[in-house]
Amino acid sequence: MVEIKTDQSLQAMREAGRVVAQGLTAVREAAGIGSSLRELDEVAHEVLRKAGASSPFLHYKPSFAPTPFPAVICASVNDAIVHGIPDDYRLADGDLVSIDFGAKLDGWAGDSAISFIVGTPRPADTKLVETAFAALDAGIAAATVGNRIGDIAHAIGKVCRSAGYGIPEGFGGHGIGRQMHEDPSVPNEGRPGRGMPLRHGMVLAIEPMLIGGGTDRYYEDRDGWTLRTVDGTRAAHAEHTVAITDDGPRILTQL
Ligand code: MG
Ligand code: MG
Repeated sequence: MVEIKTDQSLQAMREAGRVVAQGLTAVREAAGIGSSLRELDEVAHEVLRKAGASSPFLHYKPSFAPTPFPAVICASVNDAIVHGIPDDYRLADGDLVSIDFGAKLDGWAGDSAISFIVGTPRPADTKLVETAFAALDAGIAAATVGNRIGDIAHAIGKVCRSAGYGIPEGFGGHGIGRQMHEDPSVPNEGRPGRGMPLRHGMVLAIEPMLIGGGTDRYYEDRDGWTLRTVDGTRAAHAEHTVAITDDGPRILTQL
C-alpha cells in the first residue's frame, strides 16, 4: 500500500532529509586517500548523534541478508555496486566510492547516496559518476503529478543505456516514509506510461545504479550484503528522497 503524506509530514521528512545531506557532505569532506571506510562510517554516525537522529541502516535485516547491517553507511568501492559494509579498507588514489546513508528523525526516514572519486580520477570513472547523477536528475524530473512510476523508470534507464552502462536487475528505488522501504518499488528501467500514477504527497527514493562494463550481471559477496559486478568493472550509485507535489518534484535530501 502506498502511503500519501500530508504536507506537515513532508515538512518533517524534509528535516530528516537535511540530516542525510549533512551526513553525506561530512563523509565526502572526510574521504581522502588513506581514510578508512570505518572512519567514514564514524563521521556519519556523529552527524546522526548531533542531530538527535537514528540510523535506519544500523541493524537493518531484510529477508535476503544473513546478518543485520553493522553500520550507518553503505560504502561500496570500485566493483562494489551497493550495500558495501564499511571495514578497515583504506581508500587509494583513483578509487570510485559510493556512499549510501539514511537518517530517521522524529519518526521519519530519509535516504540518499552519492558517488565520487578519491584522488586522480580515471576518465571512464568520471563519466560513470556523472552519468549516475544525470540518470538521477532525469528520474527526478519525471517524478511529477500525472506521470507514472514507469516514466521515472524509463527516464533513468534511458540515460544509463544510451551511455552503454548496465543496470543491476532487481534493485532500485522505493517508497519511503516512516519506514525506509515502503511501496511502491521504483525500478531503474521500464516502460513509460505504465505503473502507478504519481500523486501529490507520495515520497520516493529514486536511486540509479550503473555498471560500467555494460553487463547487468552482479554477484553477492561472501559477506552476504555487498553486490559486485561480475566483470570487475566499476559501478556508481546516486540517490535522493523526493516528494511528488503539485508544484513539482521536491528533493528532501539536500542541505
Ligand atoms: Mg539508500
Ligand atoms: Mg534507497
